Amino acid sequence: MTVAQLQPKIYADFVKILQTERLSHAYLFDGGFASWEIALFITQSQFCSELVENLPCGTCRSCRLITRLEFSDLHVIEPIGQVIKTETIREALRDFSRSGFEGDKQVFIIRQAEKMHPNAANSLLKIMEEPKTNVLIFLLTDDANLILPTIKSRCQQVFFPKNESYLRDFFARSGLLPNQAKILAQLAKDQEEAETLVKSQKVLQQLQHLERFLTVLFNDSKSSFLEVARLVTLFKEKSEQELVFKLLSFLLAEQLPKQMAFAYLERLYLAQKMWKSHVSFQNVLEYMVIS
Ligand SMILES: [Zn+2]
Repeated sequence: MTVAQLQPKIYADFVKILQTERLSHAYLFDGGFASWEIALFITQSQFCSELVENLPCGTCRSCRLITRLEFSDLHVIEPIGQVIKTETIREALRDFSRSGFEGDKQVFIIRQAEKMHPNAANSLLKIMEEPKTNVLIFLLTDDANLILPTIKSRCQQVFFPKNESYLRDFFARSGLLPNQAKILAQLAKDQEEAETLVKSQKVLQQLQHLERFLTVLFNDSKSSFLEVARLVTLFKEKSEQELVFKLLSFLLAEQLPKQMAFAYLERLYLAQKMWKSHVSFQNVLEYMVIS
């Protein structure tokens, strides 16, 4: 799999930008699908020793070190726990100013940038505003709405849509049935998560349990309460229960005619809302069965 396959349009845009040398100093990549891979690709283009029409070769020493995240002029910053601390950003910037080679390029990739402490963000802003520094910054986030407007306004924003058809093919190649591949493609956030889902097999079993639940619900409503009891024992954790709502919504949209699916999805949405306001999982499922 290559960046060109994962995000064909964005890849093509950046090829053009690199070839016409119009790269900006700061980018906000919104949406997780292959934004990391594109950031690394652009980083390679800045250090590659065997550029072909301004594009990185992917195999020279610099390119390989960047792929392995062992390149000294690439700084990857991630949250520790739930936050990117001010100190972490300051430390990275200090290294940067200490390096002292004028014209030496440095690249910062900040993952889950929405978790940056406001002071950390301000430290970063300062370096972005210094005209002489040769720095390239990528802020990666799943939700640009959570990024401070002051930061946003200084970045070129690029939205990374999820490539569902790519994920569908990936799941199908992994041996899943077409309808399962379709549903898991909706569930997986990116390639990494898709690989985890295939490896764990757990979600596939859960999907089968829910398919059975819906079959009983539609064909043998008297047994539905037994099914509810079964689901309650299967999905004990909050995170698993959240997954149930997601998978059910995909399954309903998939299996029912549009008008009917809409009515069911509305009830599912209500049920999920009740669950979020701490009604028990069992009660919520029973409510769904009754209504
Ligand atoms: Zn190279």
